[in-house]
Amino acid sequence: MSAVEPIWIARDLPKCSGCRLCEVACSLHHEGRIWPEASRVRVFMRVPGAEFPHLCTQCHDYPCVKSCPVGALSVDKRTSAVIVDRDSCNSCGACIQACPGRVPFLHPGDKKATICDLCGGDPQCVKVCTEGGWNVLRVVEREESHSYKLYARRPDEITMDLVTIIFGEHGERMAR
Ligand code: SF4
Ligand code: SF4
Repeated sequence: MSAVEPIWIARDLPKCSGCRLCEVACSLHHEGRIWPEASRVRVFMRVPGAEFPHLCTQCHDYPCVKSCPVGALSVDKRTSAVIVDRDSCNSCGACIQACPGRVPFLHPGDKKATICDLCGGDPQCVKVCTEGGWNVLRVVEREESHSYKLYARRPDEITMDLVTIIFGEHGERMAR
């Protein structure tokens, strides 16, 4: 797939093994070292057996971008990723509150907002997930008619769904 067309990272969450290779690949790419706390993709495991990667979904209306009081966020028209201007960000956290999935976080180093940038069109998390044979993450062409905001959900909401899929009708009780 060309690196200059809008893309999306499709996710098949029940297949996740919790290996965290995506966090390793992301932090190596962006930080030059293994630093899971600074990874733009975060693996959550609120219930053992229900691990899943959590990352930006590039909402069609980008509420994070609209919420920023200093204009530190913008959209990369090539890929559709949210780009953070770290010099402008004042760490106020408005983007975190505006995101339906609470995806942005303040970087453990410079405390600036940090969001998946799709690695400029070649997401490294997808590569390692594919190489590992898990195939949870997959790059697909972005369909502008589709509402990606549906996938921007908080980790507790995703966990609830996932345990129900994995453990059946008793799963919901496990997530509480
Ligand atoms: S934390 Fe930074 S990017 Fe987020 S809303 Fe505040 S100034 Fe903007
Ligand atoms: S998922 Fe969150 S961080 Fe990503 S575009 Fe939507 S509001 Fe912004």
